Amino acid sequence: MSSRFRFTRSHQAAFLAERRDFLRRLVGTGFILATGSVVHPVWAKPKFDGYPFTLGVASGDPAADGFVIWTKIAPKPLEQGGGVGRHQFEVEWMVATDRKMRKIVQRGKAMAIPELGHSVHVEVDQLEPAHDYFYHFVAGGERSPVARARTLPAEGTTASKLRFATVGCQRYEDGYFTAYRHLADEQLDFVFHYGDYIYERSAAFARKQKRVLVREMPGAPGTCITLDDFRNRYSIYQLDPDLQAAHASTPFVMSFDDHEVGNDWAGETLGRKTKRSVVMERRAAAFQAWYEHMPVRRAQLPQGPDILAYRRIRAGNLLSVNVLDTRQYRAPVACGGGVAVECADARDPQRSFIGDAQERWLFDGFRNHAARWNVVAQQVPMMRMDRNPDPDVLEVNMDKWDGYVGTRDRLFKAVESAKLSNFVVLTGDVHVNCAGELKKDFSDPKSRTLGVEFIGTSISSNGDGYDTNKGRQSMLKKNPHLKFFNGQRGYVRHSVTPERWQADYQVLDTIATKDGKLTTRKSFVVEYGKPGLRGI
Ligand code: FE
Ligand code: CA
Repeated sequence: MSSRFRFTRSHQAAFLAERRDFLRRLVGTGFILATGSVVHPVWAKPKFDGYPFTLGVASGDPAADGFVIWTKIAPKPLEQGGGVGRHQFEVEWMVATDRKMRKIVQRGKAMAIPELGHSVHVEVDQLEPAHDYFYHFVAGGERSPVARARTLPAEGTTASKLRFATVGCQRYEDGYFTAYRHLADEQLDFVFHYGDYIYERSAAFARKQKRVLVREMPGAPGTCITLDDFRNRYSIYQLDPDLQAAHASTPFVMSFDDHEVGNDWAGETLGRKTKRSVVMERRAAAFQAWYEHMPVRRAQLPQGPDILAYRRIRAGNLLSVNVLDTRQYRAPVACGGGVAVECADARDPQRSFIGDAQERWLFDGFRNHAARWNVVAQQVPMMRMDRNPDPDVLEVNMDKWDGYVGTRDRLFKAVESAKLSNFVVLTGDVHVNCAGELKKDFSDPKSRTLGVEFIGTSISSNGDGYDTNKGRQSMLKKNPHLKFFNGQRGYVRHSVTPERWQADYQVLDTIATKDGKLTTRKSFVVEYGKPGLRGI
């Protein structure tokens, strides 16, 4: 392969071009274009006041021919503006086939601009399928760490094996991100993140909650409301060395859940009292910061309070991963919210959980883009989780699919009518490990099993946790489709072949100290063509 130099198809360049168009339309003259720079001076030879790659590097959204590579220039990551003020400047990037970065196959330059927090997103393409690559960035005479990324198998081919993990829920104060350090050692094909990458609430809120605080956020920040609040929060989290190691080990497929915006937000609502306009402003700030800090494609650049986060990742013919956005389009919460006895509202088919457009896109994917294994990678539990031991009372958490039964019923029908015999749902959110079977009728244990759901625990949220307790044992009893429960921290590792899916629940004995030990708590197998769980 020859080394190609490109002045990249970077998001920043496209962003600037669009903004130039916009300003030209606005001003109606060519003046702004003629100045060469829109607003900010170009810093030709940047000299930073500190190491510029404090937040590490990351890759994301792998395809057969490439992936996104990301960094964010921040010599002073916890200061407003990251220590680079309002300059714009070039960042060089390189992709090689070796970790020593000697066999460079592609290189280019991207502009870091203050409007995007000096983040750099490059969509690298024209690479070989199912290959390891290495990349780094250079800016201001400084080099970033070298990181690994990997392309997916080519379309039309069936890979013999893929290994990936599901992770999420990483509240900073609750413990060390030790799980990420172990995950980095695995050199996986990719990682799916189900959200709660940050928690938006103030340091004071954590103190008030009487949780065990393993560490405190620097600067004791308040609740995230503005763009700068969110930027600061992502920086606090991304300074973590274990998180950086995980990002540097493999591409992440990112999604978001509630805490990237506000606790239990639903569409255009946040709690009962927040005005719609306030919610939309919060969304705009939150999505902008999310984009700036995540290794995502240009298609995920937000437009004010809107962002396109649902998308499909194809790993040859082995996996079709439908990444959902279960927050942005959902109807307001039913039955008073929280854990509540189910009322008619929760079953109202008019109340959508994922919005009409996403629903059509998903069902079309089942029909026309199916693979050996068909995955829905999303945020909150899909299977029924009845919390009331009384056999005559159904009490569920309204923030989950249980609060939007109409959408779940339509989804199950779509799975059946597309004859998907290998349907796997990947979930997070509840800070516990669960494995269960998705039943056509959850009230009838004998009804057809349509697929399986693997719920991953948290990286750190809720601290050390516990293996099981009385309440959880009674939940297992009340929900016979639920086959496993564990309340420790870690991640779920998936090993997928054309014949077999294996999920390993990797748990830590502690996250209160940095030397937690990782073990496999439980493994489940799904045989191809036989929806259902077998514990091993
Ligand atoms: Fe969480
Ligand atoms: Ca959540």
